[in-house]
Amino acid sequence: MELKGVLMFPRINALERWPERIRESQSRTHITLNGLRFARLRHGTETGAAGTRGLDCPECAVSEGDYHVTGCDREECPSCHGQLVACACEIHE
Ligand SMILES: [Zn+2]
Ligand SMILES: [Zn+2]
Repeated sequence: MELKGVLMFPRINALERWPERIRESQSRTHITLNGLRFARLRHGTETGAAGTRGLDCPECAVSEGDYHVTGCDREECPSCHGQLVACACEIHE
C-alpha cells in the first residue's frame, strides 16, 4: 500500500527524502570555485543573513550552523558573497 502511494505521488516521496538530502549536504564541506577551494558557508554565518539568524533556513529548512542543501538559493558564495546559485563564479564539483 505504501509503495503504491509513493508511485502515485512522486513529490511526496521527494519531501520524505529531504532529511536524507540534508544529511548528504553536511558531508560536502568544501566547494571549488574558479579553480580555488573554499570552505562552504554554514547557514547563519553568511554576511548577508543577519535577518535569519537563530532560525531554520526558510528555503531548505536546515538549522543554524548546518550546511544548506545543495542548490538552496540562500547559500552564500564563499568567493564573491553573492547568491551561490546565481553568482558568476564557476563551480567545479
Ligand atoms: Zn538553505
Ligand atoms: Zn560567487
